Amino acid sequence: MYAFEMHQPVTLEAALDHLASGARPLAGGQTLLASMKLRLSNPETLVDLGRVAGLDAIEVAPDAVCIGAMARHADVAAHTGMRAVFPALADLAGRIGDRQVRAMGTLGGVIANNDPAACYPSALLASGATVITTGREIAADDFFLGLFATALQDGELVCAVRFPVPRMAAYEKQRQPASQFPLAGVFVARFADGIVRVAITGAGGGVLRHTALEAVLSEDFRPEAAAAVRFDPQDAVGDLHAPADYRAHLIDVLSRRAVASALRAG
Ligand SMILES: Cc1cc2nc3c(=O)[nH]c(=O)nc-3n(C[C@H](O)[C@H](O)[C@H](O)COP(=O)(O)OP(=O)(O)OC[C@H]3O[C@@H](n4cnc5c(N)ncnc54)[C@H](O)[C@@H]3O)c2cc1C
Repeated sequence: MYAFEMHQPVTLEAALDHLASGARPLAGGQTLLASMKLRLSNPETLVDLGRVAGLDAIEVAPDAVCIGAMARHADVAAHTGMRAVFPALADLAGRIGDRQVRAMGTLGGVIANNDPAACYPSALLASGATVITTGREIAADDFFLGLFATALQDGELVCAVRFPVPRMAAYEKQRQPASQFPLAGVFVARFADGIVRVAITGAGGGVLRHTALEAVLSEDFRPEAAAAVRFDPQDAVGDLHAPADYRAHLIDVLSRRAVASALRAG
């Protein structure tokens, strides 16, 4: 690792001052520190968000949950209120990566990084969540802009994400055993008015909605109905871990499982 400067402010205002001077935000370091060690990224100054008061708050109400950017995956997974009100989201957090990643990794870090195989972006997109930043609120549909790209501007921080609570939801994924990231993952959310949103991760250049499946499931929320819809392999990526047609097949299988899991969870 090369030498760098690090600030550890305790207020958001002080953190923003450092960002305005060119510092890079540091959350749990699960991506950023590894990429600095490999010299894929070389910031000279970091601003550690770990001591900024309130950024790790988790608030739960019957119809919405709000998770602070610095909430660790393990804390979301173990949160009693979250497990009661939005169990699919707690379950997703509890199956991210390995124990170290869950202990250190954060919601803000995942979505700012927007790895095309990350789990959380699919939950944001399928739930119709809102990203709350230091300057504005951004609908998840407008936040994720493809491979490692988001609507965040320089100097803008993710503060929290507000999720509407679906009536039923589930997340299913197939892990790539070496990286622990999903080869493909499917988050299904059904709301009280019957509208279904489905988001896919790991399959393409970034998280995306599966609109053909959403239309079918909004009429008939059963695994058998999901089975009638095929994900187009042309919309999936192929790489050394899996060809595109295998990823497309995984999405079909995981979609059916996600609907069955959501129905079982009630
Ligand atoms: C082995 C391994 C397996 C993993 N498996 C999974 C998985 O299965 N599913 C999954 O979803 N994720 C997975 N991850 C990612 C993990 O969940 C981390 O959260 C992710 O690596 C980001 O790390 P971090 O939260 O520590 O953020 P950092 O590494 O500290 O930061 C990541 C990026 O986000 C920026 N940033 C951080 N916080 C903010 C903020 N509040 N506002 C604006 N920008 C910010 C940083 O400047 C940096 O560019 C895995 C990671 C590893 C190393």
